[in-house]
Amino acid sequence: MTERAYDFDLFVIGGGSGGVRAARIAAQAGAKVGLAEEYRMGGTCVIRGCVPKKFMVYTSKYGKEIRHSAGYGWSVGDVSYDHAKFAAGMRAEVDRLSAIYDRNLKSAGAEVFNDRAEFEDAHTLRLTGSGQTVTAGKILIATGGRPWRPSPEELPGVEHTITSNEVFEMETLPERMVIAGGGYIAVEFAHVFAGLGVEVCLVYRGETVLRGFDEDVRLAVHEGLKEAGVRVITKTVFTRIEMTDDGLCVKLENGHEVKADVVMMAVGRQANTDGLGCEKAGVRLGARGEVAVDDWSRTGAANIFAVGDVTDRVNLTPVAIREGHAFADTEFGGKPWKMDHTDIPTAVFSQPEVGTVGISESQARREHGEIDIYKTKFRPMKNMLNGDQTRTFMKLVVRASDQRVLGVHVVGDDAAEMIQMAGIAVKMGATKDDFDRTCAVHPSAAEELVTMRTKWLPEVV
Ligand code: FAD
Repeated sequence: MTERAYDFDLFVIGGGSGGVRAARIAAQAGAKVGLAEEYRMGGTCVIRGCVPKKFMVYTSKYGKEIRHSAGYGWSVGDVSYDHAKFAAGMRAEVDRLSAIYDRNLKSAGAEVFNDRAEFEDAHTLRLTGSGQTVTAGKILIATGGRPWRPSPEELPGVEHTITSNEVFEMETLPERMVIAGGGYIAVEFAHVFAGLGVEVCLVYRGETVLRGFDEDVRLAVHEGLKEAGVRVITKTVFTRIEMTDDGLCVKLENGHEVKADVVMMAVGRQANTDGLGCEKAGVRLGARGEVAVDDWSRTGAANIFAVGDVTDRVNLTPVAIREGHAFADTEFGGKPWKMDHTDIPTAVFSQPEVGTVGISESQARREHGEIDIYKTKFRPMKNMLNGDQTRTFMKLVVRASDQRVLGVHVVGDDAAEMIQMAGIAVKMGATKDDFDRTCAVHPSAAEELVTMRTKWLPEVV
């Protein structure tokens, strides 16, 4: 047997969505794999992202469901909610999933180090907890990201705020909460806490939330926040946060102030590259501290790769997983392929939720010229008996020249489930005629996606 030049064929830094997938696939392909995780196996998605967030969305929706059930003949006695009980259940499930990640990786043959790894050089990592040094032929950076917060100089009193990391650790609910931000995390938590009866105020520097999404979707979500009782203050930012006898006082640039018991900053995320020693390994960082990579997830150093949020391409779990999988198949499995970052279906778990795939109307007009738009807004059948005024919105963005569907956008119950399926059609290059030829499922809300026949024309003023 030939002796290995390095301790490992592959060493992965980070046990999140991307790192774990890459490590497992490479190990299954016969590589000797090591992985270091400095916090908890599973990474952001499992520990303090998608998974616990979705549980919070579920718990928040129960309140509304219980109230609305009266319209269907149900009468429910005294209703109360115990957040500590919910949080204990949520954490137990997170623990269970984290253990599964650990177990699956080990049973694939990878060695797991509960430690932080930092570069010494392009082939050498130091595990900072144990002081041990490991070498590897190839190294994958999959260190993810973390919430970004301004410094105390930029925002005095920022130390009184929490981020999405701490939101899952709350044992009791505040009476009043202010959330800064207009991205999907801010919007989702605004709905979660409003649904749980918290008085929520969302402060956002832009005009409408969800920058980057289709304009109609943004408007529908913005309106939805207000309908859910969230006070939305736009076009301003925090200038300072003060601790007072009546809780926290958030001062705004527009001269107003808002009182709160909890202030949450959801104003962006930052790649985890601080102190990683990338400069010692020849790994180039971009302007925001992200690892710069090519389409094959290759960094500036020949043997070092990076996947997932640390590369700041499309920061979603399934994307990190596919990038990790593509890397491992390419480098260790003899099956080269690269992640295709177009037409990624995605959801925002607002209430009602958003499901979207493809491009927005404005992007389509910019990039494809003449566009046909089909859209509809209706009160879904379920809401006819329960008094819920919430409407469902659907939109198809179609290229006029060949009728190809470039974008599907839904705001309504189960939009995430719908868009997964619509995503297949869009990825396959479906045309509007393909949608029209598809028989409806009745009675459903989704049937509207295949029954919109009239082009939307802008109102002539
Ligand atoms: P991560 O999952 O962040 O994993 C990186 C890991 O590396 C971490 O465990 C970290 O501790 C570890 N690490 C960092 N530095 C080191 C080091 N030097 N040594 C050892 N270990 C290190 N995505 C969706 O698709 N759908 C959603 O609904 C969704 N909701 C979200 C909600 C919230 C509140 C947040 C914050 C994110 C959400 N995301 C969602 C995004 C998703 O969580 C990320 O895109 C995904 O986790 C990225 O995976 P990753 O492997 O790149 O990084």
